[in-house]
Amino acid sequence: MYDVKKSLHAVLDTLPSGVRLVAISKFHPAEYIEAAYAEGQRIFGESHEQELRVKHEQLPKDIEWHFIGHLQTNKVKYIAPYVSMIEAVDSLKLLQEINRQAERCRRVIRVLLELHIAEEATKYGLTLDACRELLEGGEWRSMSHVQICGLMMMASFVDDQEQIRREMQTAADFFDEVKMKYFVNDDAFCERSWGMSDDYRIACETRSTMVRIGTAIFGPRIY
Ligand SMILES: *Cc1c(COP(=O)(O)O)cnc(C)c1O
Repeated sequence: MYDVKKSLHAVLDTLPSGVRLVAISKFHPAEYIEAAYAEGQRIFGESHEQELRVKHEQLPKDIEWHFIGHLQTNKVKYIAPYVSMIEAVDSLKLLQEINRQAERCRRVIRVLLELHIAEEATKYGLTLDACRELLEGGEWRSMSHVQICGLMMMASFVDDQEQIRREMQTAADFFDEVKMKYFVNDDAFCERSWGMSDDYRIACETRSTMVRIGTAIFGPRIY
C-alpha cells in the first residue's frame, strides 16, 4: 500500500493556515481513505456518483464528501441526501436541480461556481461572463436550499508556472469582483477552490482557501 500517512503529512505541513485540504480519493480504495481518516483528515473529494455512493455507505459518517466532477442533472438526486459540497456548478440548470433535490431532502447544499479560465477547450465551467450573467440574473437569490460558498477552478494543465499563476490570479480577482457586487454581506461566500497536486503551491500564493489534492497524497490513480 502507498504510504498515505507520510504523503498526507508532507502535504499538510506545507499548507498555510487558512488553506484547507480536500483529499481527492477518486479511483482509490476505501483503505486509502481510512488511512487518511485515521490521521484526522475529514474532507474527501470524489468525481463519480456511483463510486461516491459506495464509499459513502462504507466509510465513517462524519466524512464531508465534496463532489468535484462534472455533475449531470439526473445524478443530483443520488448525492443530495448526504453530499457536503458540490464544487463544480457550471450552469443555472444544475443549480436549479440541486436546489430542488436539496429541498426534497430538507437540506441546504453548499456549492461553488466553477469558472472556466484555462485555455484548454475541454475544461468545463462558466466563463467569467457567463458567471456574471448567472449572478446578475438573480434567480439564485430565491433558491433557499443552496448556499453559494465561492468559486472553483482548474488551471491549465501546462508546465508554464506563470500561466498557471495568471489563471489563478484571474480567479482571485474575479472572486473580489463578485464578492463586492453580490455577496458583500454574505459571510458564507468565502471559498476559493484551486490548486491540485502539481500546482497547489502556486494556489496558496494566489489566495486559495481550499486545495484539491489527490496524487500527492494517494499516489498515482489506477484507472
Ligand atoms: C482529480 C482532480 C483533482 C486532483 O488531481 P491530482 O492531480 O491528483 O491532485 C483535483 N480537482 C479535480 C476537479 C479533479 O478532477
